[in-house]
Amino acid sequence: MAGGTGAGAADFDVVVVGAGFGGLAMLHRLRAAGFSMQGVEMGEGVGGTWYWNRYPGARVDVQSVEYSLSLSKEVQDEWTWTELMAPQEELERYVNFVADRLDLRRHIKFETKVTAATWDAASATWRVETDRGDAWRARFVVTAVGCLSAPLEPAIEGLHSFAGDSLYTNRFPKAGYDFSGKRVGIIGTGSSGVQATPVIARQAQHLHVFQRSAAYTMPAGNRPWAPGEFEALRADYDTIRKAQLASPLGAARFGAVSIGDLPMNPPKILETPMEERLARLDREGWLAATPFAWADVTTDIEANRAAQELYAEMIRREVKDPQTAAALVPQYPMGCKRPIIDIGYFETFNQPNVTLVDLKKGAIRRITPQGIETEQGAFPLDVIVYATGFDAMTGALNRIDIRGRDGRRMREAWVAEGPRSYLGLMVADFPNFFTITGPGSPSVLTNMIAAKRGYAGFALA
Ligand SMILES: Cc1cc2nc3c(=O)[nH]c(=O)nc-3n(C[C@H](O)[C@H](O)[C@H](O)COP(=O)(O)OP(=O)(O)OC[C@H]3O[C@@H](n4cnc5c(N)ncnc54)[C@H](O)[C@@H]3O)c2cc1C
Repeated sequence: MAGGTGAGAADFDVVVVGAGFGGLAMLHRLRAAGFSMQGVEMGEGVGGTWYWNRYPGARVDVQSVEYSLSLSKEVQDEWTWTELMAPQEELERYVNFVADRLDLRRHIKFETKVTAATWDAASATWRVETDRGDAWRARFVVTAVGCLSAPLEPAIEGLHSFAGDSLYTNRFPKAGYDFSGKRVGIIGTGSSGVQATPVIARQAQHLHVFQRSAAYTMPAGNRPWAPGEFEALRADYDTIRKAQLASPLGAARFGAVSIGDLPMNPPKILETPMEERLARLDREGWLAATPFAWADVTTDIEANRAAQELYAEMIRREVKDPQTAAALVPQYPMGCKRPIIDIGYFETFNQPNVTLVDLKKGAIRRITPQGIETEQGAFPLDVIVYATGFDAMTGALNRIDIRGRDGRRMREAWVAEGPRSYLGLMVADFPNFFTITGPGSPSVLTNMIAAKRGYAGFALA
């Protein structure tokens, strides 16, 4: 796409689907370039991830100054982050501020779901249909529908039979939820489960954490700013953005750790005597039990196992009950999934009102009206929290009936060939159809806001 053009046979130059960070950035840049456009969002408000995921403890894992949009100096100069890594409420306020400050809301039709997009070769336009009866013609479609946005209901027998409250982290009630005095079960120990567990445990009468696979997580090191700290950072955004662009992660920091401060030439764990490995744990804490600390952990499975043993030692130092500590050690190689950062996760298992249910010792059989029935017994509950994740990467796109050249359906093309794309941005036979953070994009391997900056720019170049 280059420069704004008259829409011709089309109602708009571009339809932008989704009003999270990706959709808002796209609308802002399209308008500046002179395109006519229509935004669509199925939620009532802007924010995407930070609109839907309101569960207790939801928080970003990248420092807020880096997990923020660089596209407007006004937004950058006027917004104040209150702590290192913002919670969901602050992120949602920020996205709303962006939408208002850049006057983007008027371009978006809310509570409207795009159901179909069909390529018409004769007019070289897309026909975009919604569940509210719209049928727009546009020369381009940009989907900013998110790669972790399509909720997944777990396939557990009896899911809808539960007589208590069923809550989903990815569609958590706007008004919040009071867990006081309740027997709570949480299913899922990925990022959302790990973030929610300590907060729910502070309220619940008893919390059972149902764990199928333990995940690698370590303390986030979040904190409020020291006096003047944020103001100094804000005054130096140019340097921050340059450092982000130079980093393959789109962030110069992960959690509280500055990537530049990590050792440039770390030793090999397999060449380091056990006393020195443990001495590093004493000196450096969790960081010494990560792939950052050793040269060979991501290239040699034996080294990976040795680092995993250090990680297990850190858990043993935190969690008093030896059985619980052992069950919390992940059983897959370190570094194979995006690591999680948490606030007080392992300590939570020392609370008398918290029990880990290790599903490796007996899986969930079904949900019953009373609670969760497993192969190790029944757990009567008042509330079940599902932190069971998303139909990731292709889910939100596959829920739209997208038909390209010769009526080819995107979801069928992807079933036949896997989700193939050009740089995660475009798919063959779907002309003028762009996917921000689509399958094949860097997306969750990075600080996604910084990755999008490149993407939105690329789509317009
Ligand atoms: C709980 C959680 C925590 C996360 N934490 C981090 C983090 O710490 N760091 C990080 O880098 N990334 C994180 N992510 C990834 C996060 O999704 C991205 O950082 C970013 O917010 C994605 O923005 P987006 O605009 O691409 O998509 P989203 O924010 O997912 O927005 C997509 C929007 O599209 C809308 N939509 C989808 N389909 C349709 C349709 N058919 N019609 C109309 N509207 C539609 C959805 O309602 C949604 O509002 C997290 C994700 C989750 C779920």
